[in-house]
Formats: sequence, C-alpha cells, structure tokens
Amino acid sequence: MFKNKSIRLIFGCLIFVMAAFILFHAGKASAGEAPPCLNYTILGSSSLDTPMSQTVVVSIGEMDKSKLKSAVLTYKNRSTKKQFTAEAKQIYRDAALFTMDFDDSSLRGSYELTKISFVYNGVSQEISYQETGKTVRFAVDEKMAAVPDAVIEGMSFEGEDQVVQVEATDTKPDIKGALLSAPSLNMKGKSRSGEKVIVLDPGHGGYDSGAAANGLKEKELTLKIANYCKKELEKYSGAKVYLTRSNDTYISLEGRVKYAASVGADVFVSIHINSAANTMASGAEVYYPNSNYRPSLGTEGKTLALAIEKKLVALGLADRGVKIRNSATGNTYADGSPADYYGVIRQAKQAGFPGIIVEHAFISNASDAKKYLGSDEALKKLGIADAAGIAETYGLKKKTSLDKTKITQLTGKDSTYVYLKWKKVSGAQGYEIYRSTSKDKDFKKIKTVNKGSTVSFKDKSVKAGKTYYYKVRAYKKSGGETVRAGFCGVQKTKVLKKPSVPSASSSKTQVKLKWKKINGAKKYQIYRSNKKNGSYKKIATVKSVLTYKDKSVSKNKTYYYKIRAVGDGTGGNTYSSYSGVRKIKTKK
Ligand SMILES: [Zn+2]
Repeated sequence: MFKNKSIRLIFGCLIFVMAAFILFHAGKASAGEAPPCLNYTILGSSSLDTPMSQTVVVSIGEMDKSKLKSAVLTYKNRSTKKQFTAEAKQIYRDAALFTMDFDDSSLRGSYELTKISFVYNGVSQEISYQETGKTVRFAVDEKMAAVPDAVIEGMSFEGEDQVVQVEATDTKPDIKGALLSAPSLNMKGKSRSGEKVIVLDPGHGGYDSGAAANGLKEKELTLKIANYCKKELEKYSGAKVYLTRSNDTYISLEGRVKYAASVGADVFVSIHINSAANTMASGAEVYYPNSNYRPSLGTEGKTLALAIEKKLVALGLADRGVKIRNSATGNTYADGSPADYYGVIRQAKQAGFPGIIVEHAFISNASDAKKYLGSDEALKKLGIADAAGIAETYGLKKKTSLDKTKITQLTGKDSTYVYLKWKKVSGAQGYEIYRSTSKDKDFKKIKTVNKGSTVSFKDKSVKAGKTYYYKVRAYKKSGGETVRAGFCGVQKTKVLKKPSVPSASSSKTQVKLKWKKINGAKKYQIYRSNKKNGSYKKIATVKSVLTYKDKSVSKNKTYYYKIRAVGDGTGGNTYSSYSGVRKIKTKK
C-alpha cells in the first residue's frame, strides 16, 4: 500500500530528455554550457484531503554546485485549467522545496505540475514538464481518475535512474534531511563489477505456509526451487544471486523488496506455486509489472516473464501466459497512474527494478503436484528453467571451464635453473606454477604468469642436486571471479650438480680424463679447446663411465678440457653447468 506521507523521488535524469532540453532551451542557456537537467521530482502525496499542504521537491542540474538560486513551480487544476504558482521555500544544492496549500474543498480536483522556472548559474531558465514527457499529478479531495495500464508517452528510464523513498515525518518537511538520506537509499545500486544482481524471492515462509494441497506446502517448494535456481545461476558468469530467505522464516512483502534494494537488485524474481479452488486448473503463469510509471521496468519484466514462461512450458507445464494485474482499489503510482496489484511488483518498481512473480504450477492440481512439484528432481527442473529464462534475458554466459595445460618441457639448462614450458590454453589470461620436492604433496605456488601468451618460465630458485616436481594450471578472470583450470600432470626434474674439474694424465698420444659421478646423470659430454678461454668443441659423449681417453692429440701440446653431465628431462635433456677447466700437456 502507498503511504500518503511518504515522499518519493520520482524520476531519473533522462538522457533522451536532456537532448530535448538542449533543443528547447538552446536559446536560453549560457554559451558553451548544456542547460541543467530536471533530475527528479518528489511528490509528498499522490492524493490529499483539504485542508492539507502538498510538498514537492524538484532537483535541477548538478548536485554539488549551488548554481540553483531561485525557483517557481507552476501547476494547474486539470479540469478548470486554472494555473497556480509556488515559490521555492528552500533551496539546497540542486533541490528546491515547494509547498502548496489546499485550504478548502473549493480547490478540489486533479492537479498537474506544468513547469518550473528558475535561475541557474545566473541565467533565468524554464523547464516544461510536458516537454520532458514527465507527468506528475496529484488529487485534492478526489480519487485519481484511473487510466487502465496507461503508457506514459515519451518516457524512458534508460538513464541514471534513481528512485528513492524517504519516509516523511509529521514535522515540517526538511529538504536537507530528506536529500541527505537519499544517497544511502540509492537503490539503483548496480554492482561496480558490472554483475547483474538477481534477487530470488522464495514465497511465504514461517507461519505463512502459502498454499497447501496434495501433501505439499508452498513455502517448502518455493525455497527448494529458489535454491536450485540460485545454484544453476551461479554456473553463469556476471551474475550475483541473493535469496530473500534461505530458511523457513517469515518475511513481509515489503521486507523482501527492501532487502532486494539493499543488495542493489537489478531484478527481483518472486517464486510461488499456484492454487485454485478448481482443482482442474493447472500450468504456469508469470506476472510482470504494468507499463505505468516506469515503463522500461514493465518492458524488462515482460521480457523476463516471457522467457521464464517459455522454459517452464518446455517442461510440459500448461501455458497460462504472462500477465499484468492492476490495483483494483485505486492505488496509484506517484504520477497518478494505476499501480500494480501485487505488492512485490509494485514496490520493486518504486525501488527501481523490475519484479515478477512466477507461479510455477498448481499445488491444487493432482497432476501438477505429482509431476512438477512432487520430487526434488522435479523442483530442480523448475529452478533450472527459471535460471535459464533469467540467463537468456540478461545474456548471461555459462562460465566456461579452461582446458588443462600440459608441461611440454621441463629441463635444467645448467645447474642454476629449471626451464619450464607448457601448452598454451585458449582463453587463458595467465598461468599459475606450483612446485614441490615431493611428488604428491606440499605444492606451493612459485609464480603467477599474468599473460595468456607467455608459456615458459625459468625457475631460478633451485638447488643443484635436488629433484623438483612441477604442475601448472591456466586461469582467467570472469565476471569478477577467477576461473581456474585443473592442474596438468606433475612432471619432475633433477637439477644436476656441476661436476668438479676432471683429473687428467697424459702420454705422447693420449690424454686420459677422470671425473666424479654426478647423481642423475646418464651421460657426460667432454669439451676441448686449445686455449683456456678459446672456443670449446664437444669431442665426445660417454655413457655410464667416468673416464675418457682422448686419442686425437699431438705430442708436446697443451689442451684444455671441461665436462658436463646430461640427464633425462621432459621434452629434452637436462644439463649441468660446465665443470671448471683442466689444463694438460702431452709428452714430448
Ligand atoms: Zn504464493
């Protein structure tokens, strides 16, 4: 229900309307500056009884600058066409407060705001409500004439919508207080990460069981469906999902929407089960907001309703269609148009997001109850159907899992580092490298490579003689979360110790080298040069022995030798560093 004394911020600043202003006020604005925008209008009450005062707050232009100097609001009686004006009683930042006294019933009728004249930045300007497409009406001593689901032409709320509800006290309206409390009530709390905030509302709970029939209770079914839906939606990226209740507790309808607003809801989906005296009634139907007041929410709600209904019908439920339901008791929105009948839909619209009610199946119908509500498996299908409709409407994409990578190379290039190379994973934004000294435990992340195109890493924090195990996984950021692939298979490598300088003995025709065994070495390579710092050539590779006889030598000549150990690696050999150099002269 509307509270008469509540003040509502009605309109957001409309980009499309701003364009209209620029055209309309081009001649009046100071050169080079865009004319100020009508941000919103707060109406104290949508209907009043004489003697009473109406309170109106109008926000114009920038919030932080005190450019707004004086303002006069013009309004008219819609039947007598008589015009009235009210001068601003207070101006605070961008907002002007007006009061209009309606002392006796001679002033009865329906009123509409027509224009606001003001001085902004030293320039006299005027904004016509008609030009902006904003209709703000209220009634004095009479009921607002009901317009069935009227579309307010030319209204669009694609801009920075802001709808806040400020409870007025019985004391004199205090503009400053109302506006200061407004920022915390900014209900269009789009999450900063760009995630869609989806609030699922399992109907009923606590002492309110909802409908009950065929051995089933609505409050239990709705909670299960909502949980299944949440679980499914969490498989998508870019969605943040909240439940208004996660256990068997009672929450008022108002409390549900308030909670949604507090978490910055983008959409509110109320989950219910239908029931009828006629047990033949069956199937699914979805209620969405009417096209009054904030038509874009009606449109969005309808799109969502249609998508969910389609998914439910695909499960075999009878198609009862998507529907709006207007208030039958003359409840109106702040602009005087008929309000939505259902509290959560109405309040969600007032809070600035579309609310829909999904009536999944009939608990009162034996077939629906058995087939669609009678098992967790069936309820899961309903939850998944809801999630699919939501995901489709908002273009949510399933979180794609990343492929596992594979270590293609793991080799020691000398005794001081291990060289790692792995297979590029499509879609990866980086890789995490883990290492351990045992095969299946104590892995620690030693490096995060934050480029999907980098597929190699030199691990210099190794000790010669030790064996290391490595595994790598790809990751990517998706919807504010990090999605990680599984680890690739563990690969190991031994960092070969640097051999000590070989010992050598010579004759006229040969040089005999001897060295100490290196653990993990399968082979040794022998290098020779004629100068200590000259270029060394590999003259031999020997397996499983620790000596080498170099017979291709001349007598009475000095030779320089060094060796290195070779082990098995992944995707290539692993090498130790070169030993120090042994100098030896052959005999004369
Ligand atoms: Zn219900």
